[in-house]
Order: sequence, then C-alpha cells, then structure tokens
Amino acid sequence: MKLTDIQQIRALLARHGFRFSKALGQNFLIADWVPAEIARSAGIDADTGVLEIGPGIGCLTAELSDRAGKVLAVELDRSLRPILEETLEGRENVELLFGDVLKQDLAALAAERLYGLRPVVCANLPYNVTSPVLTALIRAGCFGQITVMVQREVAQRICAPAGSAAYGAFGLFVQWHTEPELLFEVPPSCFIPQPKVTSAVIRLTRRAAPPVPVRDEELLQRVIRAAFNQRRKTLVNALGAAFGELTREELARAVEKCGFDTKIRGEVLDIVGFAKISDEIFSILSQDL
Ligand code: SAM
Repeated sequence: MKLTDIQQIRALLARHGFRFSKALGQNFLIADWVPAEIARSAGIDADTGVLEIGPGIGCLTAELSDRAGKVLAVELDRSLRPILEETLEGRENVELLFGDVLKQDLAALAAERLYGLRPVVCANLPYNVTSPVLTALIRAGCFGQITVMVQREVAQRICAPAGSAAYGAFGLFVQWHTEPELLFEVPPSCFIPQPKVTSAVIRLTRRAAPPVPVRDEELLQRVIRAAFNQRRKTLVNALGAAFGELTREELARAVEKCGFDTKIRGEVLDIVGFAKISDEIFSILSQDL
C-alpha cells in the first residue's frame, strides 16, 4: 500500500473507523516526496537507531525502516495501533511503543531500545507540543541529530540570528546545545487534513561542547529568560526585574564591564554576549558569598 496516497489513506482510515484528533496535532503527510526527503536528510544508515515521535499511519516510519538499523516509534493515539500493525507488517526493525513521549525517560529509552546503535530522532512532530518535545530531546543529551518537521514560525525562531524579530529565549536554548539548520519548507497542501500554516524541516546537530565556555549554565539560561521576558526594556532594567539580589548600579556596571552600552537591549546580544554578562553576574554573586 502507498502510505501517502490520499484515496488509499481514506479507505484505510474508514475501514478502521479512525477519526482525526486536532488536539493530538494529527496532520498526516500525503505527498510522497516529503517523508522520503525528511528521512534522506536525517543522516541515517544501518548503524543508526531512530526514535520517531508520532508515526501516525507510518509513512515516515516506513522510509526510516528502509534506511535504519532500528526504528522505535512512540505514538500517543492507541486507536492507530491496528492501522500501524497493518501498514508496517513484516518490518522487523520497527518497534511500536504506545504512550506520551513527554512522559518517557528518553535517555533510558534510547539506551535500552536502541542499544548498540547511534541514536537520532526523526519525526513530523505534533505542533501543539513542539517546544516541550524538543526541550526534552535536547535535555536527554544522547541524540546526535534531531531532524524534525515543525511549524515554519518555530523553525525560524530556532534558527534566528541575534537582533532579528524571531530571536528569543527558546531559539538561544536550542542554539546553545545544537547547531540548527532550516532545510526546506512544506506547504499545507502536503497534509490531510490541511493545517493553516506552512511547515519546515529542521536539523539540529548536537554540539560536542557549548559555543563558548560559561561558568554556570543555569545562570546563563536565567539571564536569557530575564532579557526576553521584557524584551522592549533595556537589558539592565530587564535583569533588574529578575535579579532582586543585585542593584541597578551593579547590573549597569556589569553590562559596561562586558563592553556594552547600559542602554542596550538584550535582544541584540548574541550567545557570546549573553555568556559574558552571565559570567560577570556570576562574579558579583560569588563575591557576595
Ligand atoms: N508521522 C505521521 C505523518 O508524518 O504523516 C503523523 C504526524 S502527525 C503531525 C503527529 C503524530 O503525533 C500523530 O500521529 C499524533 O497522534 C502523535 N502524537 C501527538 N501527541 C503525541 C505525544 N505526546 N506523544 C506521542 N505521539 C504524539
């Protein structure tokens, strides 16, 4: 069966009495070039163990299975079980796991179920949980590459350079841990039902080390969140609202000492600038001890 043929998909879903769930972000691919191109972009070979999130009816799963050592596909919607068992029948290297990906210990899952293989992620993500899923995948720390389809706006935020409108705390978090690339866009006409927005495929390659050394990563994330929580304010004022333990004067001196004007806004700083500010605040806080 051709898993991207709209007539065949409709007949399959009707036969199983399946109903699409908007809450689960169920938009299935109906253009065969898309799953093939996503799988091709994911750098998969026989030594790779792929975690797929949300196999749907299995069109991307089949492409991954053709290339990988093993595919572990985690699907929340149990009503897709009989459909997937039918469409993926005979594919010995596919394991289906029914449950919420956000409730899994992803590092343990990769270690146990993709044992002996190079773990990567490849998926057409459910859009309503994109950020928590990507955060969990990055925090798991074991996936060398994460190749996923997301909303174009999210892809732009993740790849945004400093000072651009899309630049923000989430993009910086992703850029701190990985090198993101926007690979290609996918129009709404490639899905059933059609989403309202354009999608894009991104590839996140895990960094061997952070882009710059920093003394306290948690503090860095706190500085970044503070800057973007109030992105229209100057960095000094935004930090002042979040760091009650420091005076405005101390913060202004810290910003100046890093070589920035005290009127600068956080949104124009790149990751190196944020790391400098974070280390300067670290020094002040350590002196206070
Ligand atoms: N891979 C299929 C495709 O490309 O046609 C389906 C992709 S669809 C955008 C997202 C899939 O993720 C759906 O099958 C949905 O049921 C599943 N899903 C939604 N939330 C999930 C969760 N928290 N954990 C695992 N799967 C989830």
